[in-house]
Amino acid sequence: MLNKDVMVVAIDGPSASGKSTVSREVALKLKFTYVDSGSLYRGMTWKCIREGVDVKMPEFVIDLMNRMKLEFFAENRVVRFTIDGEDPGQQLRSEPVRECVSDIAAIPEVRHFMVNKLRQMVQFGAIVMEGRDIGSVVFPDSPFKFYLDADPEERARRRHAELIEMEGQGDVEKVLDSLKRRDQKDTTRKTAPLQIPLGAHVINSTSMSIEEVVSLIVKEVSAAGG
Ligand code: C5P
Repeated sequence: MLNKDVMVVAIDGPSASGKSTVSREVALKLKFTYVDSGSLYRGMTWKCIREGVDVKMPEFVIDLMNRMKLEFFAENRVVRFTIDGEDPGQQLRSEPVRECVSDIAAIPEVRHFMVNKLRQMVQFGAIVMEGRDIGSVVFPDSPFKFYLDADPEERARRRHAELIEMEGQGDVEKVLDSLKRRDQKDTTRKTAPLQIPLGAHVINSTSMSIEEVVSLIVKEVSAAGG
């Protein structure tokens, strides 16, 4: 049973728009639980790769999805999950997952399944949820909807810096290409494409610091009684 009185802050936007860092910080400041909806799509992708299921064959993906056991828990106000008892951890960020996740996320049955799971996250109390369709599909009635954006070059620069920190290497041109490919797939898919949700506050963070964006969102939510 969903509790409609639970507060949901929806933060959508394209890859590397700063959503994750901002959403985590906002959740921390508001003492809400943080949910990364992309990690569910990445988890499904990880499971397919692990089981040797071709992500371009929806019927096999759906069959695996219906067989796997997905369990959620909150740790330090962050929602995490296991699939068939395993925590995919950092493998969710690996290149094979990164390259295939948009194909998985374009399958309508997968979206339907994940949207249901995401709606159940209010069981953890007030939440900040980041993604691509949170304000438009998952929680369209939330009064707190934000859409974060930044120029593609700036997003590539940020993602490149992350890769250097995580993997010690990365090519900024390749990163820009990969981001553009993912944006293209995410904005043109038939089911729940990435779009600015109705009523969302659009924040272009190209020349803003993370702290400025966080403070803007926290102020807006707090002013409305959050
Ligand atoms: O946010 P993140 O980069 O981890 O998301 C990975 C992918 O998951 C996105 O490129 C998109 O294809 C998909 N996704 C989605 N809807 C969401 C969150 C993520 O389609 N709400």
